[in-house]
Amino acid sequence: MTAANNNESRKTKTSTPVITTEQTPIAQALQNHLIFSAFKTSETSTPRDWYVATGHTVRDHVVERWAKTAEAYNSQDPKRVYYLSLEFLIGRMLQNAALNLGVEDEVRDGLKALGHKFEDVVELESDAALGNGGLGRLAACFLDSMASMNIPGTGYGIRYEYGMFRQSINQGQQIENPDNWLRYGNLWEFQRPESQYPVKFYGRVVEFPTSKGTECHWVDAESVLAVAYDMPVPGYDTETVNTLRLWSAKAAREFDLAHFNDGNYEKAVEERNAYENISKVLYPNDTSVLGRELRLKQQYFFVSASIQDILRRFLAKHDDWNALPDKVAIQLNDTHPAIAVAELMYQLVDVHHLSWEQAWKISNKVFAYTNHTLMPEALETWSVEMFQKLLPRHLKIIYRINFDFLQMVNHKFPGDTGLLTRVSIIDEEHGRRVRMAHLAVVGSHTVNGVAALHSELLRTTLFADFNRIFPGRFINITNGITPRRWLNQCNPGLTHLLETVIGKGFHHDLSKLRALEPLANDAEFRQTFRKIKHTNKARLAKRIAQLTGVQLNPDALFDVQIKRIHEYKRQLLNVLHIITLYNRIRGGHVRDATPRVVIFGGKAAPGYKLAKLIIRLINDVASIVNEDPAVGDKLKVVFYPNYEVSAAELLFPGSDLSEQISTAGTEASGTGNMKMALNGALTIGTLDGANVEIREEVGAENIFIFGLTTPQVAELKANHYNPWDYYHGNFELKQAIDMITNGFFSVDEPDRYQEIGETLLNNGDHYLLLADYASYIETQDAVAQLYKDQEEWSRRAILNVARMGKFSSDRTIGEYISEIWKVEPVHS
Ligand SMILES: *Cc1c(COP(=O)(O)O)cnc(C)c1O
Repeated sequence: MTAANNNESRKTKTSTPVITTEQTPIAQALQNHLIFSAFKTSETSTPRDWYVATGHTVRDHVVERWAKTAEAYNSQDPKRVYYLSLEFLIGRMLQNAALNLGVEDEVRDGLKALGHKFEDVVELESDAALGNGGLGRLAACFLDSMASMNIPGTGYGIRYEYGMFRQSINQGQQIENPDNWLRYGNLWEFQRPESQYPVKFYGRVVEFPTSKGTECHWVDAESVLAVAYDMPVPGYDTETVNTLRLWSAKAAREFDLAHFNDGNYEKAVEERNAYENISKVLYPNDTSVLGRELRLKQQYFFVSASIQDILRRFLAKHDDWNALPDKVAIQLNDTHPAIAVAELMYQLVDVHHLSWEQAWKISNKVFAYTNHTLMPEALETWSVEMFQKLLPRHLKIIYRINFDFLQMVNHKFPGDTGLLTRVSIIDEEHGRRVRMAHLAVVGSHTVNGVAALHSELLRTTLFADFNRIFPGRFINITNGITPRRWLNQCNPGLTHLLETVIGKGFHHDLSKLRALEPLANDAEFRQTFRKIKHTNKARLAKRIAQLTGVQLNPDALFDVQIKRIHEYKRQLLNVLHIITLYNRIRGGHVRDATPRVVIFGGKAAPGYKLAKLIIRLINDVASIVNEDPAVGDKLKVVFYPNYEVSAAELLFPGSDLSEQISTAGTEASGTGNMKMALNGALTIGTLDGANVEIREEVGAENIFIFGLTTPQVAELKANHYNPWDYYHGNFELKQAIDMITNGFFSVDEPDRYQEIGETLLNNGDHYLLLADYASYIETQDAVAQLYKDQEEWSRRAILNVARMGKFSSDRTIGEYISEIWKVEPVHS
């Protein structure tokens, strides 16, 4: 398909020839699209018009493959995977699409010939920030891997009008701005007006007896329309283009005529807005959940539309419901879509009139659930009251599922009432709440954790009871990241070097990076490798200077912690290290310090006061340290504003040291740790999440591990941990905490950081920062020491890259396929 063959431009093409003969087809397409898609001439065009022209040019390479893939799936009717997720943190599309479709170089050359730079054009696209952090980014990496492996996989989610808020920093404090990402339109989405479904809320249930038993009717419900918007997911180096289908809410009727006739026009408009608000904005909470009605509405809205869509597709080819599990695998990304278990039962029993028993058998072979956290405050529960009001039929269904389940448990473990109380889907002890994790476990055939340690903790703690009831249901599948975005796209220098020395095989099989190992001992290779890192650091430093005004020396050690701001991730521990270094420099205790730049990035949930205070502290510490002439280039501190996928693509390649310092047992996996090591950073971290497996892969001698292990954390907590003991026992630690709490960094408001002192000393230091401090500092000293030996540092960094193959999301998806989904690739 040629550029001009595409939709909007088709009409005008024949009448207005604009192509000069000696240009490449891509350069011709760019010029055509400038006119027919951006509606500008070269003279009147702005940079954004060139983005539009480039986007359309690349898009033309997607659409034909996309249609062919759909056709292949339709005619071959394979088993399909449906990945249900409330979040997809995709970031920008243009460069990734060009790369995966194999046209990046041609597009770059075409733009260059027309006097434009691909890198500048790419920058004009807003991130699709439809997620909070790791969980949403994982969903995006999985889509890339499924398409690249020719797996018939569809993502289902919500087309939020406003994604994750944009963060700006004003006088050191986080300001949240709305993310109006669709302001200039989105050329990567296609509305599908033919795919829309009504989704019901409220109303009541009436039961009436029939010859086969009681039938339930959900009546007097209000309904809203879910309209499909599709985004293409092009696989790397393949014809496959999969689909991410996002639902947008639309009022079922333009206006309620009753209100309209009453003369109450405003009320009619208001009601309409209330429906459309369902897909208005992403909730910015990643680890603590609030039981907001709108959030439950969002969950049911996208789940119901997705299940209806899945069943429609199935029914178009089949009439035997028992075949559903042979054609459909549904993955629940955390408990956010767990209501799907009840919705499928609703559809099968009430709408399609299957018996309860047959429906349950089918449903249980369809669903699998991925758990992402052990933290109690992040486990979703909904009050029975709210559930009853919003989804009365589904509450009844959940009660029935729970009744059957508890009967089974009672049969298997007679008389254990404690067990029944603990595993019940309804929590009767905290004001009657529906436990979504329990619904997900009971309704799924397989439950997986996201790293070996995390899955083990699931089996032995959170789901220990369930593991006895359903032996074999709990497995591990360690997370991964897509090497297309997180190596090839973000680090062209390193990618090119790797291609030169080990060939291109690693793009499809990241374990091929192992061939790099011998080169760690090659001095010339190490120098080339270092040069690339230096270039990436200089590129990052330039951006940081533009954003913050802080000038950085690219020869310094770039020490980077980028992730959501949360107590368990322990950004504060990093701050304590910075203050310690600062005190040593001021006190003249260091003779030849390793110059260090500490970079933070990350958003705090708007309602998470302490996390926001930590951001402010980082910025206050940065101002004092950066402006102290006694410090100079020895230490710089930067807070990189608005951490998002496109920022991450710049930050990972520019990092030397990867901070993965969560309290052992709290970080389910982490994926930032994988991106860092793949881009040649060394890790300083605890034995938590996937760090454990990263150590196994890269070798204990090539990673800096410190701090308490998970069992040691449990033991210390059981033996009345007292942070004061550590405070009084370590002068540097005491000094650092005192400076925070006595206003050294906030002279204008000395009490500003009282709360941090309280958290660390009087409220029990829940995440054991003080207990891990000495070990952390000692390990950081070893890091600084090693950095002076650039040859040895590079050798280890190269070994890290060489040994990261396991952490490709292609490996992860391979395991989901063989252990859960049982699907086969399809070639279009
Ligand atoms: C990878 C990634 C994350 C997850 O980072 P962790 O360090 O694993 O918490 C969050 N946000 C963005 C933008 C990412 O790219």
